[in-house]
Amino acid sequence: MDIEQFRKAGYEAIDRICDFYYRLEQKNVVADVEPGYLQNLLPAQAPEDGEDFKIIADEYQRLIVPGLTLWQHPSFFAYFPTACTFEGMLADLYASSACNPGFNWICSPACTELEVVVCDWAAKLLGLDKAFWNESKTGGGVIQTTASDSVLVATVAARSRYIRANPDADLSKLVIYVSSQTHSAGAKAALILGLTNRILDVTLDDNLALRGSTLRAALEEDMAAGKHPFILIATVGTTSTGAIDKLPEIFEVANDFPSLWVHIDAAWAGLSLVCPENRELCYLDRINKSATSFCTNFHKWGLTNFDCSVLWVRNRIDLTEALDITPTFLRSKHGDAGTVIDYRNWHLGLGRRFRSLKLWFVLRSYGVRGFQSYIRKGINLNRKFASLVRSSSEIALVTQPSLALSVFHVNAPMDAQDSISAQNSLTTAVYESLSARKDIQLTQTSVQGLTCIRFAVGAARTEERHIEKAFAIILEETKSAIRVFKM
Ligand code: PLP
Repeated sequence: MDIEQFRKAGYEAIDRICDFYYRLEQKNVVADVEPGYLQNLLPAQAPEDGEDFKIIADEYQRLIVPGLTLWQHPSFFAYFPTACTFEGMLADLYASSACNPGFNWICSPACTELEVVVCDWAAKLLGLDKAFWNESKTGGGVIQTTASDSVLVATVAARSRYIRANPDADLSKLVIYVSSQTHSAGAKAALILGLTNRILDVTLDDNLALRGSTLRAALEEDMAAGKHPFILIATVGTTSTGAIDKLPEIFEVANDFPSLWVHIDAAWAGLSLVCPENRELCYLDRINKSATSFCTNFHKWGLTNFDCSVLWVRNRIDLTEALDITPTFLRSKHGDAGTVIDYRNWHLGLGRRFRSLKLWFVLRSYGVRGFQSYIRKGINLNRKFASLVRSSSEIALVTQPSLALSVFHVNAPMDAQDSISAQNSLTTAVYESLSARKDIQLTQTSVQGLTCIRFAVGAARTEERHIEKAFAIILEETKSAIRVFKM
C-alpha cells in the first residue's frame, strides 16, 4: 500500500467505523457465532501473494465484525466497562503511524516526556498526592498494559526491596497477602514469582472489605512462623462486588510492619476519584499518606481506549532497582547521566506502546469537568438500577451498590426462602437465560456461597432508558424462572 492508497483506505475505514457507531444500538450486544466459526471461514495459511486491501477490508466487515462483542453498546453491563472514545482511537492511529517503541528517552523523546506529563495530569485529576507525581522526582507514574501487569510490577519491586533490606532472608518464605475478593491478578503474580499467596477472609457483614484486624492476625502468625510478609494487595473496588478494603485500619497495621509494601489496586474504582464526593469513600487521604503504589485503569472507566493502566509509586527507585538491566546496546548519554526517565526500567518488557498520546487527547478533550460528568452519570444510572431492584420483590441486592456496580440475586418464593440452594438454582437459571439472549450482557459472581449477577454501568452511550429496559428484561427472565420453579 502506498501513501495515496493509505489515504483512500483510511477515509474508508473511518467511514466504516462511523457507520458502525451509528448502528451500534440496533445491533446485538453479544456476537451470534459459535466457537470455531472463524477458523471455518479462513484459509489455513497466509496467501502466497499479497491481496488487494479492499478485499481485506471487506472481509474484516463480513467475517470479523459479526464475531465482535460490543463492549461499547449501551446495553453492555458485563465485567467492567472499557470506555472508549473517538479521541482515543485517533491517538492510537497517530501512535501506530509513529510506531516507535519508546523504551529509552532517546528512542523518541516525545513519548517519554508526554508520559511523564500526562501521568502527572492524571494524578492531579484523581487528587493523588504530589509524592506520586513525576514532578516530585522521587515518586512517579508510568503507563502499564494492564492492572495485572501493575500488580506484577509492584510485587517484583516489593520483593526486590525486601531482599535488599534483608539479604539473608530465606526467599522461599516470602508471603504475598490478598483477600478472598482480590482480583486473580494477585494470585497470578504469586504463581509467576513462585510466592506463597495468603488469602485473607472477609465477611458479608463488612460488605466484603478486608479489615485491619484480619491482616494483623495473619502477619503476626506468619512472622512467628518465620515467614516474610512483604506485600499486600489491597483493593478499592473489587471486581466481584466493588468492595473497598478498610484502608485506615490496614495502614494502621502496616505502620507496625514497615517492610510491608501496600499496593492499592483501584483498577476500576480509581477513576471515581475524579469526583471529590467519592474521595472519602475510597479513602484517598489514606492512600495519599501511606500507599506504596496505586494503580487505576484509564481503559476501564476512564474514557481511554484499551490499553492504559497507570501505576504510581511513591519511590521510583523501587522500580528501577528491581528492573534496570542495562546492557551496552541500551545505554545512552542522557540515560547514563540520569537526566531522563528511561521507562523500560519501570515495567517488565523493553518495548512499549505510545499510550500517553491517547490519555493526553482524552484528558484535553474532556477536561476535568467532562470526566466528572461522565463518572457521575454512571453512578447515577446505577442508583436508578439499584432503586428499581429495591422496588421489586423478585430480586434483591446482595451488597450495597458500589459506585456504578450493583450485585443482585433472585429471591426464592416464600416457601423456599431459607434455602440457599433454591436461591442459587433460581439465580443460575436467570443468569443462563440472560446469557442466552443477545440483546444484553451481564456477568455472574459468587458471594460467600450465594450465586449472584453483576450489573456494571459505564458504557458511554448508556442512558436511563437502557437501564429501564435492562431491568425489564431481568424481571421478565426472573418471573419466568420462578414460574418454572413453582411447577
Ligand atoms: N483489579 C481489579 C479490581 C479488576 O476489576 C480487574 C479487572 O476487572 C483487574 C484488576 C485486572 O485488570 P486488567 O485486565 O487490566 O489486568
